[in-house]
Amino acid sequence: MPNRSQTLFAAAKNVIPGGVNSPVRAFRNVDGEPFFVDHAEGCRIRDVDGKEMIDYVGTWGPAILGHAPAAVREAIVSTAQHGVSFGIPNPLEVEIAEKIVEWVPSVEKVRMVNSGTEATMTAIRLARGYTGRDLIIKFQGCYHGHVDSLLVSAGSGALTHGKPDSAGIPKDFAALTLSLPFNDEAAVRDAFLKYPDRIAAVILEPIPANAGLIFPRPGYLAFLREITRQHDSILIFDEVMTGFRLAKGGVQEITGVIPDLTAMGKVIGGGLPVGAFGGKAEIMNHLAPLGPVYQAGTLSGNPLAMAAGLAQLRELERLDGYRKLEAAGAQFEETTRAALKKAGKNYTLHRVGSMFCLFFTEAPIFSVEDVKKADFAAFNRFFWACLERGVYFAPSQYEAGFISLAHDEEAIARTAEVVAECLQA
Ligand SMILES: *Cc1c(COP(=O)(O)O)cnc(C)c1O
Repeated sequence: MPNRSQTLFAAAKNVIPGGVNSPVRAFRNVDGEPFFVDHAEGCRIRDVDGKEMIDYVGTWGPAILGHAPAAVREAIVSTAQHGVSFGIPNPLEVEIAEKIVEWVPSVEKVRMVNSGTEATMTAIRLARGYTGRDLIIKFQGCYHGHVDSLLVSAGSGALTHGKPDSAGIPKDFAALTLSLPFNDEAAVRDAFLKYPDRIAAVILEPIPANAGLIFPRPGYLAFLREITRQHDSILIFDEVMTGFRLAKGGVQEITGVIPDLTAMGKVIGGGLPVGAFGGKAEIMNHLAPLGPVYQAGTLSGNPLAMAAGLAQLRELERLDGYRKLEAAGAQFEETTRAALKKAGKNYTLHRVGSMFCLFFTEAPIFSVEDVKKADFAAFNRFFWACLERGVYFAPSQYEAGFISLAHDEEAIARTAEVVAECLQA
């Protein structure tokens, strides 16, 4: 007898390509089928068959307070009493813009969109429109959403399916994207030597989190800041994942390296579909209606989405969230390292704040090429063994994990027990 998830997935496959609305959800990388969720609250999710799991995916990043926090739920419900969409300015748009400008060092002006993909797509268009140049540099393993010119050597979903480039993207588009190895200064220097005044922008995840979790080498971000400045290129930080997750102002606050433009998303929407991009006013003023770079959105600045995002940001502040997330992350790292030791494994564990990745290799990780050397079969066995015991990690070695404010000491301690057992699987 198939269970309810299996029955639903069979039905989904008849009417939705692959049964999912986003490819990683299909669990293909771990050779299985997804479960369907009935309920998510705090650090736990329950599937439609009644199985409960401690969740380290957190809806792929947004659920930083845990699932369905009361403050966010209440904000959505009370805002909905006034209407659910206006298509004309509403006060919440001003409030969230002011908050973002206050929190994110590079942002003087910001525009709200509906996804991280829209944010990076428009940041690229704006950089090209502002500089009058066509070429962009991106880095292998960095994922910036499913934007045509950025789906070149992208991370997670694209990697997982063994197709770094998507069909349907004209070669001429991809030809405008220079895809370079991450953490390799010489490669960037060479590109600027070859095209000294043709590169509109350099875009990167300042801490890449879509090919595992990769750290920039010391000085690398400052180097990118310097070389883009020298060549009048726009430096774009894609902080869709790291923004509002690692600190109020993301990686730029932590490192002090300030980009020209920043793409945001995930945490900023409180679980509703929100993205944003912002930066220097001088550049942002090139957007319509002030300037020649067109961008628009029927649902952009949607009141429910703005209310959810604002409520989430305010809760983070009220609860001293970033300090607590660091403490929870530190506990997670310590107990996971102990579990690794107990299991006699010397795997590489990366952790920053509330983000982590356990690589099934002992080798150091500096680029996506290093991640590819991991033992994927061992990862798959580990993933399923953990899931069976009620711990849900992301279904791919190429994904980072997320801890939320709802992951209490007991949940993290229980996770470590499960990890120790499952490392032997
Ligand atoms: C998730 C993500 C995106 C895409 O955001 P969507 O909302 O899925 O379109 C872009 N960049 C980074 C770094 C991301 O993690």
